[in-house]
Amino acid sequence: MDRREVDVAVIGAGTAGLNARKEVEKAGKRWALIESGPYGTTCARVGCMPSKLLIAAADAAAAVKRAPVFGVLAEATLDGRAVMRRVREERDRFTGFVVRSTEELPAEQRITGRARFVAPNRLRIDDHTEVAARAVVIATGSRPFVPESLASIRDRLLLSDDVFELEDLPASLAVFGTGIIALELGQAFARLGVRVAFFNPNEAVGMLTDPELVAQTRTIFAEELELHLGVEATVTPSGSRGATLRWRDERGERREDFEAVLVAAGRRPNVEALDLDRAGLELAEGVPVHDERTMQCGRSAVFLAGDVCGHRPLLHEAADEGRIAGANAARFPAIEASERRISITVAFTDPQLAIAGAPHRDLGAIEFGEASYDDQGRARVMAENRGRLRVYGEPGSCRLVGAEMIGPRMEHVAHLLAWSIATEMTVEEALRMPFYHPTLEEGLRTALRDLARKLRVIERCRPEDLAEGPGA
Ligand SMILES: Cc1cc2nc3c(=O)[nH]c(=O)nc-3n(C[C@H](O)[C@H](O)[C@H](O)COP(=O)(O)OP(=O)(O)OC[C@H]3O[C@@H](n4cnc5c(N)ncnc54)[C@H](O)[C@@H]3O)c2cc1C
Repeated sequence: MDRREVDVAVIGAGTAGLNARKEVEKAGKRWALIESGPYGTTCARVGCMPSKLLIAAADAAAAVKRAPVFGVLAEATLDGRAVMRRVREERDRFTGFVVRSTEELPAEQRITGRARFVAPNRLRIDDHTEVAARAVVIATGSRPFVPESLASIRDRLLLSDDVFELEDLPASLAVFGTGIIALELGQAFARLGVRVAFFNPNEAVGMLTDPELVAQTRTIFAEELELHLGVEATVTPSGSRGATLRWRDERGERREDFEAVLVAAGRRPNVEALDLDRAGLELAEGVPVHDERTMQCGRSAVFLAGDVCGHRPLLHEAADEGRIAGANAARFPAIEASERRISITVAFTDPQLAIAGAPHRDLGAIEFGEASYDDQGRARVMAENRGRLRVYGEPGSCRLVGAEMIGPRMEHVAHLLAWSIATEMTVEEALRMPFYHPTLEEGLRTALRDLARKLRVIERCRPEDLAEGPGA
């Protein structure tokens, strides 16, 4: 058994772990980075980047399909192998950068194998190395969740981890789930000519929480996609690789064969293999209880970062948490609290869904201002005119506190709003900002004017900020 002693052991070489390690190094402390799988991170290998590459291909196909609206007559011939080849080639390029930079770290400080606690300050890696550490950062990420009912046919299922390895597009695909990952991947495959059907035992579609927008999201996606909501489907293997789905709906007993089944029904933190009972930590649903501003677990020398935390499963949050956890592990016990960023979440569907600041669900007494994208100038120009934006403001202070939206390219409007909320802008201050014409951002101005009226601060606004223009 190889025995090592370090100041900080970091478990997981994903985005959170790599950022944590960097902070420990900056602090001049000795570190060990432990990774059980391949280098490259979930984001680059099987997450953010390959999913957006697939969506980029789907966008190209969707643009050709929409082209006749503009008098441009074109026909798309889809080469499934070429689609998947580009996804993989570009994905490998992104992953390659991360793999190379990780491999450039000193080999003697990188340990390959699965880490578990044998005592609060001691880790065993497989059965070859034991690391004694003054502090530990757990950055083990998460994995796709497979419902119990599907566990016995796991080898027939695709998870988001497998899907980018497909050599060709399947002819048909059943998708379990209608959350962000399910919608992004499922809609992309549908636009690439795959017959896709979604199944969800509940009615949720996407991540928005404002009841009006939730209903609109369901309607918009149901127009394009085959959604079976409130339905429990069973799967049995058929043929050498396909599956038969059976379910019951208002039309009675249904049965259909699919060439592939994608399970995208949420993710679970990677905690089971860590033997956390030996770490002496308080757990809530298996995850160590921790402070989001210090990432410290209780008063221990163990810190958590990234998707393993079970909340904010987003790339920029994983990076931030890694930095906070790494810096605090290095200076333990003199830890410091960090201010977290205003939250922002985007689903890269079409139309996009986004939440900036607090979601509607978490807000108490608020007013909202809204704008429809069904007839918004620029959205109509692009023939992408559908959706709605709601901006939430706090009565009294008139500060912007959150927003939810479904609409074309909402990633940009969501950023503007997240930045405005972060700088504690009031609705009048936001209305003083320039709005270029004709842009999708003019929809934001419409929503802000509506909010100013509802918050009764119209008289405090300058007339020129309230004038209805051509891009309202
Ligand atoms: C399909 C998909 C699309 C996504 N799209 C977006 C997006 O558009 N925007 C966005 O912001 N986020 C997106 N995300 C989320 C984002 O990818 C994650 O939030 C982020 O990558 C999490 O980083 P992490 O460091 O916590 O985990 P990871 O990168 O998963 O790193 C954890 C590492 O720990 C290792 N490990 C686990 N257990 C052990 C152990 N016991 N011992 C040693 N090593 C261990 C694992 O092998 C892994 O390498 C997406 C995710 C998916 C799956």
